[in-house]
Amino acid sequence: MPTKAEKTTARKKRLKSFFSIDRDRQVDGDTINNKLLNEIVAEGGASASIAACMQCGSCTGGCPNADKMDIPPRSLILMIQRGEWDKVLQSKTLWLCSSCYTCTSRCPRGVKPSDVIEAAKALAIREGIKNDSVKFNTIFVDLIKERGILFEPELMYKYGGLKEVIDQAPLGIKLTLTGKMSPFPEKVKDPKSFKKALEKIEKVSKK
Ligand code: SF4
Ligand code: SF4
Repeated sequence: MPTKAEKTTARKKRLKSFFSIDRDRQVDGDTINNKLLNEIVAEGGASASIAACMQCGSCTGGCPNADKMDIPPRSLILMIQRGEWDKVLQSKTLWLCSSCYTCTSRCPRGVKPSDVIEAAKALAIREGIKNDSVKFNTIFVDLIKERGILFEPELMYKYGGLKEVIDQAPLGIKLTLTGKMSPFPEKVKDPKSFKKALEKIEKVSKK
């Protein structure tokens, strides 16, 4: 014979099933795995109320890049709550987010998915996750640090070698002819001061 407590649990399960709510969602309150969540908070997501997400989907609904992402913002937040470490840190979503902040402005619970994604990105780099997106991002940032302005052919060469430069050449020529890309490397007026300013920002953001 089932006990009274077992009967209550079974009834709750039936109700959740009836309303199509997944049993192991955060609404249960007892399935949050704080490890990943805490790491993301420590990486800069301190002002984001990750645990408050109610899975309304407003973030994904407004995201201009959601159709390209392997995990849309709503699901990413759920996975962070669950502590699905590998899936989150390997996700292409981290690198496809354009930081437009639409999700954050639409979120009714103060979750700030854009900040969460930034923090997850920093964590992925710190954890040494290796994939094409991390490689691209690292080269991009290093080049910006060096001269303040990106020289796209250099980025392509460092990312994918001569083959990538040749593949992207038709687009590069179009952009150059329309004045959207310089055919020569350029620098900001004072690269040393620019580099110092970046280092200062890095120090402050690590505190
Ligand atoms: S909009 Fe906010 S509360 Fe709604 S699913 Fe996205 S993160 Fe969660
Ligand atoms: S900040 Fe990123 S995740 Fe949020 S709506 Fe913009 S692209 Fe999508």
